[in-house]
This record gives sequence, C-alpha cells and structure tokens, in this order.
Amino acid sequence: MTQFRQYLENQGKNLTALSNEEIYLTLMDYIKKLAAQKTKNTAKRKVYYISAEFLIGKLLSNNLINLGIYDEIQEELAAAGKSLAQVEDVEPEPSLGNGGLGRLASCFIDSMATLGINGEGVGLNYHCGLFKQVFRNHQQEAEANYWIEDNSWLTPTSVSYDIPFKDFTLKSRLDRIDVLGYQQDHKNYLNLFDIDGLDYSLIKDGISFDKTEIKKNLTLFLYPDDSDKNGELLRIYQQYFMVSNAAQLLLDEALERGSNLHNLPDYAYVQINDTHPSLVIPELIRLLTEKHGLDFEEAVSIVSKMVGYTNHTILAEALEKWPLDYLNDVVPHLVTIIEKLDSLIRSQYPDSAVQIIDSDKRVHMAHMDIHFANSVNGVAALHTDILKNSELKAFYNIYPEKFNNKTNGITFRRWLEFANQDLAAYIKDLIGKDYLYDTTKLEDLLSFADDRAVHAKLSVIKHQNKRALKRYLKDNQNIELDENSIIDTQIKRFHEYKRQQMNALYVIHKYLAIKKGQMPKRKITVIFGGKAAPAYTIAQDIIHLILCLSELINNDPQVSPYLNVHLVENYNVSLAEKLIPATDISEQISLASKEASGTGNMKFMLNGALTLGTMDGANVEIAELAGRENIYTFGKDADTIIDLYAQSGYNPSDYYHSSADIKEALDFVISDRMLAIGSQERLSRLYQEITSKDWFMTLIDLQDYIAVKEQMLLDYEDQESWNKKVIHNIAKAGFFSSDRTIAQYNEEIWHSS
Ligand SMILES: *Cc1c(COP(=O)(O)O)cnc(C)c1O
Repeated sequence: MTQFRQYLENQGKNLTALSNEEIYLTLMDYIKKLAAQKTKNTAKRKVYYISAEFLIGKLLSNNLINLGIYDEIQEELAAAGKSLAQVEDVEPEPSLGNGGLGRLASCFIDSMATLGINGEGVGLNYHCGLFKQVFRNHQQEAEANYWIEDNSWLTPTSVSYDIPFKDFTLKSRLDRIDVLGYQQDHKNYLNLFDIDGLDYSLIKDGISFDKTEIKKNLTLFLYPDDSDKNGELLRIYQQYFMVSNAAQLLLDEALERGSNLHNLPDYAYVQINDTHPSLVIPELIRLLTEKHGLDFEEAVSIVSKMVGYTNHTILAEALEKWPLDYLNDVVPHLVTIIEKLDSLIRSQYPDSAVQIIDSDKRVHMAHMDIHFANSVNGVAALHTDILKNSELKAFYNIYPEKFNNKTNGITFRRWLEFANQDLAAYIKDLIGKDYLYDTTKLEDLLSFADDRAVHAKLSVIKHQNKRALKRYLKDNQNIELDENSIIDTQIKRFHEYKRQQMNALYVIHKYLAIKKGQMPKRKITVIFGGKAAPAYTIAQDIIHLILCLSELINNDPQVSPYLNVHLVENYNVSLAEKLIPATDISEQISLASKEASGTGNMKFMLNGALTLGTMDGANVEIAELAGRENIYTFGKDADTIIDLYAQSGYNPSDYYHSSADIKEALDFVISDRMLAIGSQERLSRLYQEITSKDWFMTLIDLQDYIAVKEQMLLDYEDQESWNKKVIHNIAKAGFFSSDRTIAQYNEEIWHSS
C-alpha cells in the first residue's frame, strides 16, 4: 500500500467519493505533512534572496514532482477514476509577480533547495497580485486578482516586527511557503511579509484604490500604478516594509545562530534582485548602529561584505531614482544614512556619473547598490558586457573586480518534467534519467540527431501537445486552435522593446499577401500573450491592434484557412506551461541590447521549439550552444544599435519610405478595414508613434524579420532537417538549468556551505 493510500485510510477518506476540490485540499494537506518532516537547510552562511516579485506558479504538481511522488499519486487517482490534471486545474495561481524577473526568483528558490543551499526568498504577500487581464472591446482591462483562499500553501508564523515609518509604525506578520528541492531531505522557505488590517473595500472600479491609506493598502497590489506621486510613495512604503522585515529577520537569525554581529558576513548574505530591495543597505546599517550599537564605519564595512546586486535591465526608465523629498516623507531615518553614504562616495570619487544623490536631489538606487555591494552581476553574457563597457562603465572602471556574469536559467522540473511529460518520458527512453541530476547529460541526445524514428516521435509528441493546448484554449478561452498549423508564439510582457508590434506588422504583411493570392504552404497560427502596464498607453495600443487583427483575420473565410491570430487572455505561468510545449516557433525578437537575458527563450528551446530571434540577451548564448545553423537569427546587432542611440541615428521614416512592404503593412493599421473594428484614437496613435518616433526601432529589422520568418516557414516542410535542429536545441539546453546558475552564484558570490 502506498503511503498516500495509508494516509487516506487514516483520515477515513475514499478518493472515489471526493470532488476535485476535496482531492486538491487533501493533497495539499498531505504534502504539507511530508514537508513538515523535512528539516531546514542549515549552512552557517544563509542567503536571503530579496525580491519584490516571486512568480511561483501553481505549487501542487511542482511539489509532487520534487517529492518524487507525482507518478504514484497520478496512478492512485487514475485507479479511483480521477484525473490529476483536473485536480491541478482547481488550484489558483498565486499572483506575486509580473514577468521574467519574478519567474527567475521562483526558479532560483527551487534550485537553492535542490542544491541543499541554505537560501530563502524574502518578499511581500500581495493579496490582489498584479492584476487580472480581461479583454473588452478589443482592449485590456484590469481587475483585482484575489488569489489567496482559506486553505492555501501559505503557513502563518508568529514572526512579527515593528516597521517604523515617519508618521506611524506598522506591525508586520510573516507567512511562509515551504520550498522543497528535488528529492531532498531538507527544505527552505519563501518568506512573505504582510500586514493585518488590509481593507479590500478601498478598491474601486478595476484596480484603482486610495493610495494614501497605507495602513489599509500596503500589501493589496504588486507595483500599484506609479504614474502619480501617491503611487510612487506607496512603492517606497512597500519597499521599505519589505527590506526592514528582511533585515530584522536576518539579524535575529544570525544572533540566534551565534553571530556577535561583528562577524555578520559569516552568517548572512543578501542578494538584491533588481533595485527594488536596495534600501536594505541603509536599513542594515541603521539597525547595526542604532539598535546594536556598532559604529557607522564598521557597520558600512560589514554590510559591504554581505550584499550582492543583480542588474536586470539597461532601460533607463526602469532604473529607480527616488526623490530625496519622497524618502523624507516616508523614511527620514534612512535619509540621514543615505546622505552619509553619499558624502563618503563624494569624498572618494568626484565623477558626477557615480554619485548616489544627483544634482536634482534624486537617489540612484543602483549607484548605492554598486558602491556598497561586493558583487554586481548581469544576467547574460552580452548584458554583462554592455554593463561593463557602456551602461555602467564609470563603475566598472572603479570596481572591475565586483562585476560578474550569471546567465539566467530555468528549473527543468517545472519546464520539462511537469510541463511536457511526454517529451520528458521519451528523453528518458532514449538516454536514461541522469539528466535529471546533471542537465548537461541532455547532450547524449546528439547521437540521435539523424535518427528518423526519433524525428518522427518528436513530431508526434509536438502534435499531441498541440491537441492538449487546443482542448485547453477551447474550454478556457473560447479560442479555436488549429492543431495542424505551425504554432508561432510570442508570450511575454507587452513592451515596445520586445517588439510585439513588429510581429503584428508581419501578420498584416502575411494577411495582405494571402488576400493577393499568395497562399502559404501550411497554415500558420500566431499566438500572443502578455499583460501591459496599465499606465503604458502604447503597449495598450499594441494589444488593441492585435485584438483587432485577430477579429479581422480569424473571421475572414478567405484568410483563416491559412492564417490565424490569437491573443490569450491573462497570460501567466499556467498558460506558459501549456503554450510552450505546443510551440514550433519561439519569437524572441527584442531590439538588440534591450533584453537583458530572457528566460522564455530557454523554456522554448528545452521544449523543442526553434528560436526566431535577434542576437540579444541569452539568445546569443543559445545560438552559440545550439549552433548558429540550428536557430534563426536576424536584425542589427547590439553594437550597431548602441551606436545608433549614441548618434541619434535612427529615423523611422527612412524605413517607411524605403520599402513597399513596410509602408503597406503600416498603412493598414489605420485602414478603413481596421477602423471599422477598432478605436481610431488607439490605432492612429500607434501608427503615429511608429512612423514618427519609434524609440525602440520597430522598423529597423522588419524587412529582415519577414525574410527570415518566411524561410523558417519553408524549412518547416522538411521535417527531417527541422527535427534535427530541434534535437540540437534540446541537447544543448542543459546549460540553461537554474541549478547551474545557482551553483555559480554560490561558488562565486555567496560561498554558503
Ligand atoms: C518565463 C516567463 C516570463 C518571461 O518571459 P520572457 O520571454 O523572458 O520575457 C514571463 N511570464 C511568465 C508567466 C513566464 O513563465
């Protein structure tokens, strides 16, 4: 009898009689009991991975896989006439993140637990998450995303701290989620701080709410709209609340384990995930001096040995600079410390480019991080080079030894073992199980690169995944997917630099070609998914364009046998898990130099989609590993783009007038056919933006993109050579395991053992 059967009998439960909801709760309880038997990882130096986001995805199946009982439970349920997949559907997806950065943090805590590292996530427990995306009138609308149910993976603790703000003190409370590594005896936690006294009734009309009622709104939403001053202040409240809790937890735990605080770096290391947790630096210094009586100089020296900063972007607007006035309104006790740190730097380095407080009295969070961290890392080789050689050059000249690269990764438990069970099983048939512990063993697949039987089986698995996606989209999104078409997918946050608008222009180009009688050999389905920040108008306009195209094209009997366009609603981890295994073409088409790494690109590669991408972020490493001949690249490279920005050398009208294809596709955006469906205001604004300003250079690569994509569609017809490329991609994806990334963080930065 299995342990689970025993457990059911002890509880007097019979699976056959239980609903899917009841089975879900029973399994959650069972997993929590198994987790309770595991002891904490205990290395002396503990890592605190502080992040404003953790996009963890559903936890049921992930926990079952990591406990090594997924198959057993699946069989047990099947024997009772139940389906584990249907039970999985019951679970709400936690809404604690918004995109790649939060998903990365989640892969990292999974890998820390798997490698037995004493390392935990620290963040906030947002009750309404980011937002739930719904489409109405071909537009995105945002709704509060309540995801916490009475029974959830959160476990309350008695941990609580006083968090001092200028005008009041807030009491925190801590909820934890167990983080179980793959087949590990020990566990870690994800620590999510929260307040009592949240008031949901503040929320009016979508996701707007009174931003000034801090005691009642602090953990309602992730990244509440910061397009006004109250929104920015709320973010500062959230950030300080997060890091003060983290710092107090860290100090308590270090003292408990015997630190005398003078040796604090032997007991703790803080990894700052992007600039949102940067205030942890002055907060640790404040606590060490004001609460624990160390002198300022020693406190600075201690903190400088135990903090690492990860940079995730070179987009200027994403690097936080808080007005000193705002910080004074919220946390004046940190301002005195930040000013002292600023004078310290000023006295050593006169260069205005490296100051913490600039001449407009704004605090550059990244600058503070770089001066007072002992490690600064980028997230892909190209990105780190750009940091060193242009973006952060002034800092690199001062501290060359601090800069290092840690190319991002993904956890293969979620993105292969769970998401693509047929492929995972087939890989085990071919090369055994070793790759589960050492993902570079996937290279053994290369010996099958020319094996026709393997090619055929890979095609069958892809087709089955398309059929599974078809069922899911039909049931949940009212989308009719053609499982016999080529599936071409672009799923990620909507942003101009990611260039969904360029893909949309391709779609228009293809639509017009079909209208002229140039039919593709095989039907193409272009799938988009992603949310746009509510205050980002142009991104909303791009969503509008795609929804209008979808309406036009899917309902045109002349075109829809050859081309479909879908934009899935509320893209999240659960949707990614279904879309990626069914995809043939992975769209990674950011403007070179702008995508720091990307991790979606890695998920697709591992799942046997071929990349259509620019030489940007980790695409560069994908091309090197899989071989340039096994992916499809196009467009200008990062150096060229960086030079163009430096010289203001890009003018969209040059491209608009130089190519009939481009002009025709763009003009269609404001054609009568489109205006009959969509909003004149949105479509004209987007047209205007792309033809006159186009800061992220949509048009510079469009011609090349169209040509390479057409070639790719033709190449698909030769399934032998296509699947040979697929095998090269899967075989070389092992490098992109987050276990590898985390092993590097630990060996080169954290030194926790
Ligand atoms: C992986 C992932 C991302 C990141 O995708 P990129 O293409 O790297 O931007 C964003 N959202 C979800 C839900 C993901 O799973």
